Amino acid sequence: MHCDLLIVGAGPAGCAAAVAARTAAPKLTVTVVDSARFPRDKLCGGAITGGGLRELELSGLVLRVPHAIASHAVLRARGVAVRVELPHPAVVVHRLEFDADLVAQARGAGATVIEEAPLETIEGDVAITGQGGIRFGALIAADGASSTARRALGLPAGRRVPVRETHLQAARQWDLVFDLDAGLPGYAWRFPCIDSARASENCGVYSVERIAGLDEVLTRFTDREGLPMAGRAGRSAIRLFESGGPVGKRKALLAGEALGADALAGEGIRYALWSGRIAGRLAARALVRGRTASLNLYRAQLLGSRSGILLELGAHLAKRLYGPDLRWRGIACDRRVAEAVAALISGERPVMPLLGLLCRLPAAMRAAPAALF
Ligand SMILES: Cc1cc2nc3c(=O)[nH]c(=O)nc-3n(C[C@H](O)[C@H](O)[C@H](O)COP(=O)(O)OP(=O)(O)OC[C@H]3O[C@@H](n4cnc5c(N)ncnc54)[C@H](O)[C@@H]3O)c2cc1C
Repeated sequence: MHCDLLIVGAGPAGCAAAVAARTAAPKLTVTVVDSARFPRDKLCGGAITGGGLRELELSGLVLRVPHAIASHAVLRARGVAVRVELPHPAVVVHRLEFDADLVAQARGAGATVIEEAPLETIEGDVAITGQGGIRFGALIAADGASSTARRALGLPAGRRVPVRETHLQAARQWDLVFDLDAGLPGYAWRFPCIDSARASENCGVYSVERIAGLDEVLTRFTDREGLPMAGRAGRSAIRLFESGGPVGKRKALLAGEALGADALAGEGIRYALWSGRIAGRLAARALVRGRTASLNLYRAQLLGSRSGILLELGAHLAKRLYGPDLRWRGIACDRRVAEAVAALISGERPVMPLLGLLCRLPAAMRAAPAALF
């Protein structure tokens, strides 16, 4: 079998890449292979920020599945809580439905999606899948946190950090809650969601380092919140974006979590849609012009965009925020800092919020107590 563009993985990154490629070059043959059969579930908080919704729209995809809406975020750190309005509300989706609908939209755009076709390895310009070999003109690796494609390309594994998540039986609140006092280098979250047409909440813990007892951290958090857990916590990992890390090799581009998610919040859907869209469009144009060398422009295109700037910033800020200097956690609850962050994650133009952050940080650092609580 042969196709112009082969996309490995039909999650948000793969579907955004497929739609972007078909939009940029409608005559291109675009094939997406996925190891799963859809609808398939994916352990995920399902929160899509305003920035993520903007990327969804830019990708030519539409939100058509049931979702909860959160108009505010609550940040808790060092015993203080601040509640800020999100300039653009976030939504929380159930990945089972959301991803299946994205696959339907990719098919609607003219991509061929082959399910239950796991990539096994890549030999030159041929991808070996569970359903045979596929010769490709260019390839986009969008197969998530444990990307086989990334490994098959001989690229370094990158940094994966642990996450736990559980669902609650009922919704008690409708904000996106981020608690930096959960006793780990990361945060605990509570997100409203819709489970089987019922208002509910999911919660979990995200740690930027591998630590022992992460399940216990989640149990302590749910106990403290007085929340009944609906079952055992799901365990997974998030691959984090690394500044200066690989973005592809030869005729292949990395997208979504195969590239890396945001280190600050573990947000991955926004960045999957963003990198998938840019990779899909770039690969399509390169193939139409017969110049795959132009795939080298990928890094510049990624980092020259609104989400790219934020992803780079997040990689640097995460080291500070979850590091040993606890004053950084204190400033997360400075109202003006929180409002600037809310604007950035909501997909606002970054210039004003970044200026606001830069102006406010020194004063907020001075005001933040240095001692441990
Ligand atoms: C517990 C948890 C909570 C999270 N919460 C949030 C959140 O609230 N908001 C947010 O924005 N992000 C969240 N994330 C991150 C987010 O889920 C991911 O970053 C996002 O799904 C990445 O999209 P993707 O398309 O790159 O990969 P995926 O969504 O993982 O899709 C990859 C696809 O590739 C397929 N695949 C895998 N291997 C192969 C193979 N060998 N061959 C073919 N196909 C293959 C898989 O079946 C899958 O369909 C969370 C992650 C975790 C683990």
